[in-house]
Amino acid sequence: MRYYSTNKQAPAASLEEAVVKGLAGDKGLYMPEKIPGMKKEILAGLKGKTFREISCIVARAFFGEDIEPDILDGIVNDTLSFETPVVPVQGNIYSLELFHGPTLAFKDVGGRFMARLLGYFIRKEGLSQVNVLVATSGDTGSAVANGFLGVPGIHVYVLYPKGKVSPIQECQFTTLGKNITALEIDGTFDDCQALVKAAFMDNELNRHMRLTSANSINVARFLPQSFYYFNAYAQLDKIGKADELVVCVPSGNFGNITAGLFAHRMGLPIKRFVAANNRNDVFLEYLRTGIYTPRPSVATIANAMDVGAPSNFARILDLFGSQGDTHESICRLISGYRYTDEEIAATIRRVYQETGYLLDPHGACGFQALADSQLEKNETGLFLETAHPAKFKDTIDKIIGADIDIPAPLKAFMEGTKQSIELPKDFETFKSFLMSR
Ligand SMILES: *Cc1c(COP(=O)(O)O)cnc(C)c1O
Repeated sequence: MRYYSTNKQAPAASLEEAVVKGLAGDKGLYMPEKIPGMKKEILAGLKGKTFREISCIVARAFFGEDIEPDILDGIVNDTLSFETPVVPVQGNIYSLELFHGPTLAFKDVGGRFMARLLGYFIRKEGLSQVNVLVATSGDTGSAVANGFLGVPGIHVYVLYPKGKVSPIQECQFTTLGKNITALEIDGTFDDCQALVKAAFMDNELNRHMRLTSANSINVARFLPQSFYYFNAYAQLDKIGKADELVVCVPSGNFGNITAGLFAHRMGLPIKRFVAANNRNDVFLEYLRTGIYTPRPSVATIANAMDVGAPSNFARILDLFGSQGDTHESICRLISGYRYTDEEIAATIRRVYQETGYLLDPHGACGFQALADSQLEKNETGLFLETAHPAKFKDTIDKIIGADIDIPAPLKAFMEGTKQSIELPKDFETFKSFLMSR
């Protein structure tokens, strides 16, 4: 399979090139040249299969031309050491729990898959060390760092804003050591992201070391996220609830929902999508007006969705670009909602009181958007519960007036010793640090 750039100014790339480079030379995002279709019989047979089996089928559809089947199955099986169960919450609304991986957030799926795929390419080609730069406001850093921990030939630099990441999140990438270096930047998340972007564009630095990105711009991180949409469908099909499926995705950079749109394009019968936002709602504004205006992000209690310029918007436009009026086609399949911190807190409190189900701030946006989208009687609503509530313990404790338990894997991280290197936010210091490595 070849991968083209959404900006159409760079040559098409092989899977390996797309994964190793991350972003295309023209700053576009890579897209697979064709989206394989999934036959009806295969879809109907998914309900008898495990998450791993389903994921192997989807992975082969995308990557089967480029990677031998047994190697690919190995990568998938290694990635998915956990389940993504569908759980009823209220009425016809279900939660797809994506937080049973090592760092308790959905990014474990893409992070682990990408680490294993990149590790495979490095071994196969005998590449010199690949350095992954990742800017994080919390969740991405932990999933990427843990996914890549101990993978030979790869070093990961996690850049995070000093004092702006919760202690629980911070310990998940600062206590690992080995091939993971945490860089504590005296600035904001936007400063961290700017440093990473500047590094990719610096010729001298790129001659000195091989750099790539593990944000959801990387095809190896975002495409595997389609696996759990198929798995959720299979679980709902088993209980006769998959016929009119409405899927709601709490969105920031829009990588997760884009993976769902790919699953839909492959033939997965999802009736429509709902994109849930916090106050960072440039996508909702696009749905309403047809005009896309990125703007600086504002801080909210659903901080993994604090994105003012969603990077995967380019992929969504590209996906619908060949279908007449792009905006109209997007609006036919996707609707949007946005919630303030107060509204998110009210949802968490109410759902907990009424059902006993504890939402995290991101999943709360997803649940509420389905509740507000007024599902028809025979529709099933499924929201992606993207993180475990304990990752946001301080916020959740205040909202429900309790002292919630921290799951054992999180506790283990908290017992480690923090190791990080403090750096100012100017590029020259960051660059000379990398040049010295
Ligand atoms: C990253 C993240 C999101 C947003 O996902 P995108 O793919 O960037 O849209 C939502 N919730 C949680 C918990 C996250 O970590």
